[in-house]
Amino acid sequence: MVLPSRLARLLRSTRTWIGLGVLAPLGMLLVSGLMLLDLRQDAWDKAEQTSRNLLQVIERDIARNVEVIDLTLRAVQDNMRMPGLAKLDPDMRQLVLFDRATSARDLGVMFVLDENGDVVEDAAASPPRKGNYADRDYFQAHKANGHLGLYVGRPIVSRLTGERMVNFSRRIDKPDGSFGGLVLGSLKLTYFARLFDQIGLGQEGAINLYLRDGTRITRHPYLEADVGVNIAGSRTFDRFAREGAGKFVETSVRDGVRRLYTFSQVGDLPLILNVALAVDEVEAGWRAKAVVIGTVVLLLCGLTVVLSLLFGRELRRRAAMQAELARLSLTDALTGLPNRRRFEEAFEVNRDGARRAGRPLSLLVVDADHFKRYNDRYGHAVGDEVLKGLARSLSAAVQRPDDLVARVGGEEFAILLPDTDEDGAMRIAGKVHGAVARLAVPSAGIGAGAVTVSIGLATDHGSAQERPEGLYQAADAALYEAKSGGRNRTRCAPGPVGTGGSKMPRLRLANA
Ligand code: GH3
Ligand code: MG
Ligand code: MG
Repeated sequence: MVLPSRLARLLRSTRTWIGLGVLAPLGMLLVSGLMLLDLRQDAWDKAEQTSRNLLQVIERDIARNVEVIDLTLRAVQDNMRMPGLAKLDPDMRQLVLFDRATSARDLGVMFVLDENGDVVEDAAASPPRKGNYADRDYFQAHKANGHLGLYVGRPIVSRLTGERMVNFSRRIDKPDGSFGGLVLGSLKLTYFARLFDQIGLGQEGAINLYLRDGTRITRHPYLEADVGVNIAGSRTFDRFAREGAGKFVETSVRDGVRRLYTFSQVGDLPLILNVALAVDEVEAGWRAKAVVIGTVVLLLCGLTVVLSLLFGRELRRRAAMQAELARLSLTDALTGLPNRRRFEEAFEVNRDGARRAGRPLSLLVVDADHFKRYNDRYGHAVGDEVLKGLARSLSAAVQRPDDLVARVGGEEFAILLPDTDEDGAMRIAGKVHGAVARLAVPSAGIGAGAVTVSIGLATDHGSAQERPEGLYQAADAALYEAKSGGRNRTRCAPGPVGTGGSKMPRLRLANA
């Protein structure tokens, strides 16, 4: 039963409760902090996963549509080299050059331009619509470089339809390898708008499609002003271009919003696609939870601290009360002196200590003389005053901290004098008589010298075999002698057998 009792003692300790009151909230804070961090990580994981999935779906759709256009461009490129094509009539030639893919919904125009940039074949009209595109970036690029392959032009506004589109083009070489014009197919930006419109990315989320040179082809949510803007050199675009694919958090150059960018190249095309989620929105759900959980935990912690402090205070109060009760149970209410119980405890301890150490221990038993008379004459209240005065006088007669003055009966006191031999005790008895002689209760007309006491003195000299009848009885017997000897005096109990004492009480008269 060692553990339970130790536990019970721990639970009764104020310090334990104050410690728990501090440690438990700290633990709670730690656990909830870790939990919140975990929740935050979950929110980020989810956002990253969603971005990745979106990016993949969008990228595949764009790559597939561009592939369809490119297949047609390649077919026209090949067909242009067909012998006798020029001799066919224009309708027939149109049919041979362009396949049905050109009827796709978001396809803008599909032209063949000659080396001067004039439209010579038009998938949608025969004879072809008139136009010259020698000024367009794709025309200049193919003219200058024979090995561009599929070229993706900057987003433009169609001169024919006024619609915004992006052009895909391939160069047509003359038989001698010189520039012979190009075939182009355009994709309306409405295609991207339709593709992105289904996707919810929050208020501040965005999808961007860039050319590799940093030109923005389109953005979702769509804003005309965003199209064609070049952000090359910005921190975000630098990473898109350098890393090819991946994710990072960065502040947008466009609007200063911090976003999680997930990005990749579209197939083998010179296109960079990104899905951007605003950091604030990624964390919004988590923040709301964090505020609620944080508030509740803080409140609970506060409550725990307060309750523990209150409980600790209550325990302390109880302990103080118990100590006070214990003190009271050992104190005489009238005089404030230690009572008989306290005296008996101290007596045993001192007697054992004196015997172990071989040191003397003296005891004075002090009894008021004819005390009954004071009560009878002046009343009980005055009797009480006299008793209090006696208590003060006795206390004044001793000095050592270990000396003990106790009220052991109605008008009977005991003075325990550790480490004091008979002579020392006799001197104290003399001081008691002197102090009592000065005692007066002027309010009752009791003057100095009216109150006297008789004292019985006994001393133990530190041997275990001494005084089998007990020190107290010896002192009491001496007191009896003092009373019968005329009162107002001290009698000393005879020393024990073998130490110079006789069996018969040998009483010494003090200088009372
Ligand atoms: P003796 O000299 O032989 O000791 O005579 P005494 O009158 O002192 O002794 P006795 O034992 O006959 O009477 C003691 C008296 O002390 C009886 C009681 O009225 C009184 N007494 C005891 N306790 C108290 C107390 O607390 N207050 C008051 N006022 N009187 C008390
Ligand atoms: Mg008396
Ligand atoms: Mg008495």
